[in-house]
Amino acid sequence: MTRKKVIYGNWKMNQNLAEVRTFFNELSSFKPDWKCVAGIAPQFIHIPEVLSLAGSLNVKVGAQNASHKNNGAFTGDISPLSLTDMGVHFTLIGHSERRSIFKEDDELLNEKTKLALTHGLEVVFCIGETLEQRKSGNTFKVIETQLANGLKDLEKSSLKKIILAYEPVWAIGTGVTATPKQAGEVHTFIRNYLKEKTNFDSEETVILYGGSVKPDNVFELLSHEDIDGALVGGASLKARDFADLCNEASKF
Ligand code: PEP
Repeated sequence: MTRKKVIYGNWKMNQNLAEVRTFFNELSSFKPDWKCVAGIAPQFIHIPEVLSLAGSLNVKVGAQNASHKNNGAFTGDISPLSLTDMGVHFTLIGHSERRSIFKEDDELLNEKTKLALTHGLEVVFCIGETLEQRKSGNTFKVIETQLANGLKDLEKSSLKKIILAYEPVWAIGTGVTATPKQAGEVHTFIRNYLKEKTNFDSEETVILYGGSVKPDNVFELLSHEDIDGALVGGASLKARDFADLCNEASKF
Protein backbone atom coordinates (compact mmCIF):
# COMPACT_ATOMS: atom_id res chain seq x y z
CA MET A 1 0.00 0.00 0.00
CA THR A 2 1.11 3.57 -0.56
CA ARG A 3 1.61 5.70 2.49
CA LYS A 4 2.72 9.33 2.32
CA LYS A 5 6.43 9.33 3.20
CA VAL A 6 7.43 11.10 6.40
CA ILE A 7 10.58 13.10 7.18
CA TYR A 8 11.01 14.04 10.83
CA GLY A 9 14.08 15.95 12.00
CA ASN A 10 15.47 15.40 15.49
CA TRP A 11 17.56 18.45 16.36
CA LYS A 12 18.69 16.98 19.68
CA MET A 13 20.48 19.58 21.86
CA ASN A 14 21.55 21.68 18.87
CA GLN A 15 20.65 25.04 17.29
CA ASN A 16 20.62 28.33 19.19
CA LEU A 17 17.78 30.79 18.70
CA ALA A 18 19.53 32.65 15.86
CA GLU A 19 20.19 29.35 14.08
CA VAL A 20 16.57 28.29 14.51
CA ARG A 21 15.44 31.52 12.83
CA THR A 22 17.99 31.23 10.05
CA PHE A 23 16.87 27.66 9.35
CA PHE A 24 13.24 28.66 8.85
CA ASN A 25 14.14 31.80 6.88
CA GLU A 26 16.17 29.71 4.50
CA LEU A 27 13.56 27.00 4.34
CA SER A 28 10.85 29.48 3.39
CA SER A 29 13.08 30.93 0.68
CA PHE A 30 13.02 27.48 -1.00
CA LYS A 31 9.21 27.80 -1.21
CA PRO A 32 8.61 24.26 0.00
CA ASP A 33 5.72 22.48 -1.62
CA TRP A 34 6.20 18.90 -0.50
CA LYS A 35 3.97 15.91 -0.89
CA CYS A 36 5.58 14.22 2.12
CA VAL A 37 4.82 14.83 5.79
CA ALA A 38 7.58 16.99 7.32
CA GLY A 39 8.32 17.69 10.98
CA ILE A 40 11.01 19.03 13.29
CA ALA A 41 11.65 18.30 16.96
CA PRO A 42 13.70 21.18 18.38
CA GLN A 43 14.90 21.69 21.96
CA PHE A 44 11.93 22.22 24.29
CA ILE A 45 12.75 25.85 24.89
CA HIS A 46 12.55 26.66 21.18
CA ILE A 47 9.18 24.98 20.64
CA PRO A 48 7.10 28.20 20.82
CA GLU A 49 9.41 29.92 18.31
CA VAL A 50 9.41 26.92 16.00
CA LEU A 51 5.63 26.65 16.21
CA SER A 52 5.28 30.20 14.99
CA LEU A 53 7.84 29.76 12.21
CA ALA A 54 6.91 26.29 10.99
CA GLY A 55 3.14 26.51 10.64
CA SER A 56 3.05 28.45 7.38
CA LEU A 57 5.58 26.01 5.89
CA ASN A 58 3.47 22.99 6.74
CA VAL A 59 6.15 21.57 9.01
CA LYS A 60 4.84 19.76 12.08
CA VAL A 61 6.47 20.46 15.41
CA GLY A 62 7.53 17.72 17.80
CA ALA A 63 9.14 17.22 21.18
CA GLN A 64 12.12 14.98 21.81
CA ASN A 65 10.68 13.54 24.99
CA ALA A 66 7.63 13.74 27.26
CA SER A 67 7.07 12.94 30.91
CA HIS A 68 5.36 9.81 32.20
CA LYS A 69 3.25 12.04 34.47
CA ASN A 70 0.78 14.83 33.84
CA ASN A 71 2.03 17.18 36.57
CA GLY A 72 3.51 17.31 40.06
CA ALA A 73 6.90 17.12 41.69
CA PHE A 74 8.96 16.08 38.68
CA THR A 75 11.58 18.82 38.47
CA GLY A 76 12.95 19.24 34.98
CA ASP A 77 10.33 17.12 33.25
CA ILE A 78 7.87 18.31 30.60
CA SER A 79 4.26 17.20 30.80
CA PRO A 80 2.61 15.78 27.68
CA LEU A 81 -0.35 17.98 28.61
CA SER A 82 1.82 21.09 28.29
CA LEU A 83 2.98 19.86 24.91
CA THR A 84 -0.51 19.44 23.50
CA ASP A 85 -1.47 22.72 25.13
CA MET A 86 1.25 24.44 23.10
CA GLY A 87 0.12 22.80 19.86
CA VAL A 88 2.90 20.24 19.61
CA HIS A 89 1.99 17.46 17.18
CA PHE A 90 4.31 14.58 18.05
CA THR A 91 6.87 13.41 20.55
CA LEU A 92 9.78 11.02 20.30
CA ILE A 93 9.82 8.37 23.02
CA GLY A 94 12.67 5.97 23.68
CA HIS A 95 15.36 7.52 21.50
CA SER A 96 18.55 5.52 22.01
CA GLU A 97 20.17 8.51 23.71
CA ARG A 98 17.33 8.57 26.26
CA ARG A 99 17.73 4.83 26.77
CA SER A 100 21.52 4.79 27.11
CA ILE A 101 22.48 8.19 28.61
CA PHE A 102 19.39 8.83 30.72
CA LYS A 103 18.79 5.16 31.53
CA GLU A 104 15.12 5.22 30.53
CA ASP A 105 13.94 1.63 30.66
CA ASP A 106 11.16 -0.19 28.83
CA GLU A 107 8.72 0.18 31.71
CA LEU A 108 9.14 3.95 31.90
CA LEU A 109 8.95 4.25 28.10
CA ASN A 110 5.73 2.25 28.11
CA GLU A 111 4.23 4.63 30.69
CA LYS A 112 5.35 7.66 28.69
CA THR A 113 3.92 6.22 25.49
CA LYS A 114 0.54 5.43 26.99
CA LEU A 115 0.19 8.84 28.59
CA ALA A 116 1.27 10.80 25.51
CA LEU A 117 -1.18 8.86 23.35
CA THR A 118 -3.97 9.47 25.86
CA HIS A 119 -3.44 13.18 25.35
CA GLY A 120 -3.53 12.92 21.59
CA LEU A 121 0.15 13.31 20.90
CA GLU A 122 1.49 11.25 18.04
CA VAL A 123 4.24 9.05 19.50
CA VAL A 124 7.34 8.21 17.51
CA PHE A 125 8.51 5.17 19.45
CA CYS A 126 12.20 4.49 18.80
CA ILE A 127 13.79 1.06 18.90
CA GLY A 128 17.04 -0.41 17.65
CA GLU A 129 19.88 -2.76 18.41
CA THR A 130 23.51 -2.02 19.29
CA LEU A 131 26.36 -3.21 17.10
CA GLU A 132 27.20 -5.89 19.63
CA GLN A 133 23.63 -7.17 19.58
CA ARG A 134 23.62 -7.25 15.77
CA LYS A 135 26.97 -9.01 15.60
CA SER A 136 25.80 -11.66 18.01
CA GLY A 137 22.73 -12.32 15.84
CA ASN A 138 20.24 -10.87 18.31
CA THR A 139 18.76 -8.02 16.27
CA PHE A 140 15.26 -9.46 15.92
CA LYS A 141 15.19 -10.65 19.52
CA VAL A 142 16.10 -7.15 20.75
CA ILE A 143 13.51 -5.51 18.51
CA GLU A 144 10.85 -7.96 19.63
CA THR A 145 11.58 -7.31 23.32
CA GLN A 146 11.55 -3.53 22.84
CA LEU A 147 8.22 -3.77 21.03
CA ALA A 148 6.67 -6.17 23.53
CA ASN A 149 7.67 -4.07 26.55
CA GLY A 150 7.30 -0.62 25.05
CA LEU A 151 3.86 -1.23 23.56
CA LYS A 152 2.55 -3.38 26.43
CA ASP A 153 -1.18 -3.01 27.15
CA LEU A 154 -1.74 -0.50 24.39
CA GLU A 155 -5.27 -0.45 23.00
CA LYS A 156 -5.72 -1.02 19.28
CA SER A 157 -7.00 2.53 18.98
CA SER A 158 -3.69 3.77 20.46
CA LEU A 159 -1.60 1.61 18.14
CA LYS A 160 -3.22 3.48 15.28
CA LYS A 161 -1.60 6.70 16.48
CA ILE A 162 1.88 5.31 16.90
CA ILE A 163 4.80 5.70 14.54
CA LEU A 164 7.69 3.28 14.95
CA ALA A 165 11.24 4.42 14.30
CA TYR A 166 13.82 1.73 13.70
CA GLU A 167 17.14 3.30 14.57
CA PRO A 168 20.05 0.88 14.81
CA VAL A 169 22.31 2.38 17.48
CA TRP A 170 25.40 1.69 15.37
CA ALA A 171 24.03 3.92 12.61
CA ILE A 172 23.03 6.95 14.71
CA GLY A 173 25.42 9.84 14.18
CA THR A 174 28.15 7.53 12.89
CA GLY A 175 27.94 8.14 9.17
CA VAL A 176 27.29 4.40 8.74
CA THR A 177 23.83 3.85 7.26
CA ALA A 178 22.00 0.55 7.28
CA THR A 179 21.52 -0.73 3.74
CA PRO A 180 17.94 -0.69 2.46
CA LYS A 181 18.01 -4.50 2.78
CA GLN A 182 19.22 -4.42 6.41
CA ALA A 183 16.72 -1.74 7.40
CA GLY A 184 13.92 -3.18 5.28
CA GLU A 185 14.05 -6.63 6.83
CA VAL A 186 13.69 -5.15 10.31
CA HIS A 187 10.81 -2.92 9.15
CA THR A 188 9.03 -5.93 7.68
CA PHE A 189 9.65 -7.82 10.92
CA ILE A 190 8.10 -4.91 12.91
CA ARG A 191 5.04 -4.78 10.66
CA ASN A 192 4.53 -8.54 10.91
CA TYR A 193 5.07 -8.48 14.67
CA LEU A 194 2.30 -5.90 15.08
CA LYS A 195 0.01 -7.91 12.85
CA GLU A 196 0.62 -11.22 14.60
CA LYS A 197 1.12 -10.26 18.23
CA THR A 198 -1.31 -7.39 18.58
CA ASN A 199 -3.78 -8.50 15.97
CA PHE A 200 -3.60 -4.98 14.63
CA ASP A 201 -3.81 -4.11 10.94
CA SER A 202 -0.31 -2.70 10.68
CA GLU A 203 -0.47 -1.96 6.95
CA GLU A 204 -1.30 1.60 7.94
CA THR A 205 1.49 1.91 10.52
CA VAL A 206 4.23 4.34 9.61
CA ILE A 207 7.67 2.87 10.24
CA LEU A 208 10.60 5.27 9.95
CA TYR A 209 14.25 4.42 9.54
CA GLY A 210 16.85 6.50 11.39
CA GLY A 211 20.62 6.40 11.32
CA SER A 212 22.84 8.64 9.20
CA VAL A 213 20.14 9.39 6.64
CA LYS A 214 21.21 12.06 4.16
CA PRO A 215 19.77 13.59 1.00
CA ASP A 216 21.90 11.26 -1.13
CA ASN A 217 20.83 7.99 0.51
CA VAL A 218 17.23 8.70 1.50
CA PHE A 219 15.63 7.82 -1.86
CA GLU A 220 17.15 4.35 -1.92
CA LEU A 221 16.05 3.68 1.66
CA LEU A 222 12.52 4.96 1.09
CA SER A 223 12.21 2.80 -2.01
CA HIS A 224 11.76 -0.24 0.24
CA GLU A 225 8.04 -0.92 0.60
CA ASP A 226 8.19 -1.14 4.39
CA ILE A 227 10.28 2.01 4.94
CA ASP A 228 7.75 4.81 5.23
CA GLY A 229 10.05 7.67 6.06
CA ALA A 230 13.09 8.77 8.01
CA LEU A 231 13.96 10.16 11.41
CA VAL A 232 16.96 12.34 10.74
CA GLY A 233 19.44 13.87 13.15
CA GLY A 234 22.51 15.61 11.70
CA ALA A 235 21.18 16.16 8.18
CA SER A 236 18.04 17.88 9.47
CA LEU A 237 20.00 20.80 10.93
CA LYS A 238 20.66 22.56 7.63
CA ALA A 239 17.67 23.97 5.77
CA ARG A 240 19.08 22.97 2.37
CA ASP A 241 19.57 19.35 3.44
CA PHE A 242 16.20 19.16 5.18
CA ALA A 243 14.50 20.54 2.06
CA ASP A 244 16.37 18.05 -0.13
CA LEU A 245 15.32 15.17 2.14
CA CYS A 246 11.71 16.30 1.81
CA ASN A 247 12.05 16.73 -1.95
CA GLU A 248 13.31 13.16 -2.24
CA ALA A 249 10.53 11.85 -0.01
CA SER A 250 7.98 13.66 -2.17
CA LYS A 251 8.94 11.60 -5.22
CA PHE A 252 6.93 8.62 -3.97
C1 PEP B 1 18.75 10.40 15.39
O1 PEP B 1 19.27 11.04 16.27
O2 PEP B 1 17.59 10.01 15.55
C2 PEP B 1 19.51 10.13 14.18
C3 PEP B 1 19.04 9.24 13.35
O3 PEP B 1 20.68 10.83 14.00
P1 PEP B 1 21.59 10.87 12.66
O4 PEP B 1 20.66 11.10 11.50
O5 PEP B 1 22.52 12.02 12.86
O6 PEP B 1 22.28 9.56 12.56
